[in-house]
Amino acid sequence: MGNMMERNDTDFPVPEGRTIVGEEPFTFHCHAGVCCFLTCCHKVEMYLYPYDVLRLKNRLGLHSAEFMHNHARIAEGSHPYFPAVMLNMANTKGYPCPFLRKNGCSVYKDRPSACRTYPLERAVEKIPGQKTLKMHYFMTHHPYCKGHQEERKYTIRQWERDQFLNEYNLMNDLWAEVDAFFATNPWQGEGRAGHRQQLAFMVCYNIDEFRAYCNHHNILSRFRLRKDERRRIKRDDAELLKFGFKWLLFVLGDRRTLQPR
Ligand code: SF4
Ligand code: SF4
Repeated sequence: MGNMMERNDTDFPVPEGRTIVGEEPFTFHCHAGVCCFLTCCHKVEMYLYPYDVLRLKNRLGLHSAEFMHNHARIAEGSHPYFPAVMLNMANTKGYPCPFLRKNGCSVYKDRPSACRTYPLERAVEKIPGQKTLKMHYFMTHHPYCKGHQEERKYTIRQWERDQFLNEYNLMNDLWAEVDAFFATNPWQGEGRAGHRQQLAFMVCYNIDEFRAYCNHHNILSRFRLRKDERRRIKRDDAELLKFGFKWLLFVLGDRRTLQPR
């Protein structure tokens, strides 16, 4: 997962109930033959990151506002200065994920980061003075998950390739940087319902609305962008989200993430 943790002088903190996964391969296999198949798609407390929302709303053919209204709720985040978003389970017997069907996940290619990373969890660490983030993986140990007793082995790299995690990790790392900035309370006293925070929430979780906002206010034309970059932003939501992250850091944090014209 994309939690940004600050380094301290001791070892990196291992979340409760997890073990750290290093270079050594781990044993795990999830397939339709395990007796627990799809157990983990019920009653899940799952955070959705901005890129998760973007992929799911496109998969479902929904406007991002409609996706948020139908499937998500606001929750407490890892800090008090910006809310988190969680996926709503269906209000039916066993509280299944709304995307679960008899034969499995109906949004598999676009399933959220947490689903594709499981049974691992991912955290990134910001090391002062270094540009790149340090990554940590932890193994969860839920007793209901029998995939741990299977024989297949993976290294972390193999798991990332197998689950097509790289695009998700890249976007979640960009998001972690923005969320770490939000944790500094950059709202200039406006508080939760203020204009700045609403703008930030729109960029992160309502990309269709942000596209309309950019068009209405000619936001792209205010910055020096390469032609190909501008074209990509205009047709691709993920590129717009990357631009949106930079724009938030620029307008709210006075960072030199974009060059004004
Ligand atoms: S999105 Fe798919 S994999 Fe994730 S909990 Fe829902 S049904 Fe399961
Ligand atoms: S509980 Fe574990 S093994 Fe069972 S379906 Fe979920 S991830 Fe796969």
